[in-house]
Amino acid sequence: MRIAEESESLLLAARCTLEQGILPFLLFLAFLLLESAMLAAGQQPGRVDHFEPCRRSSALSQHGHMDLGVRISTANPVLATEFERALDFWADVLDMTWHEDNTTGCAIQLIDGGPDFFRDGTFGKAQLPWAKDFEGWVAFDPRAPLTKKEMYHGAVHEIGHLLGLRHNPRANSVMCGEDNDEPESLEITDLNALARRHKLRRAGILQRVSLSASGI
Ligand SMILES: [Zn+2]
Repeated sequence: MRIAEESESLLLAARCTLEQGILPFLLFLAFLLLESAMLAAGQQPGRVDHFEPCRRSSALSQHGHMDLGVRISTANPVLATEFERALDFWADVLDMTWHEDNTTGCAIQLIDGGPDFFRDGTFGKAQLPWAKDFEGWVAFDPRAPLTKKEMYHGAVHEIGHLLGLRHNPRANSVMCGEDNDEPESLEITDLNALARRHKLRRAGILQRVSLSASGI
């Protein structure tokens, strides 16, 4: 499950979860209590340790063309492939290109998170670019039994966070903070938020960008 990686997104994610029924909402409330306890204890749920961070993650905040170096640090080759497909999806939406850069000169890094990092039931996490400790990482739980589709959609979602998208309460948005059976897309709220931070390839035309149109 993707629940909420950032405390700022908790309310939006809760509204999104409510659309799915009462049981997911109760589970979500339990998650809220856990994360509140962590915050009260001074822990930051969005932190990952034990890896070398990217030095050029500020490139993710550029409004014009972005050429992003991507460091692939996962041991899972299937996840690496789906993450690269997600980058291709974003390169089709935004005025951006990407290339593999397995040095610390990267802007984005895909890492395998440790078990302590995913005790909240999530399988993927990323930072929002205005976080004071922003390092451009996306972490997946290597123990989570994910399908290719879940990896791909999860990677699109987490990269969306790196690009400045918060959770969207609409269940058909890939930026919804909870998994569901709706066909996922970037919908108009996401596209408008993106356009405020980045240059879209087809600004003013798109109302929705479907993920299913791009292969899975
Ligand atoms: Zn999220």
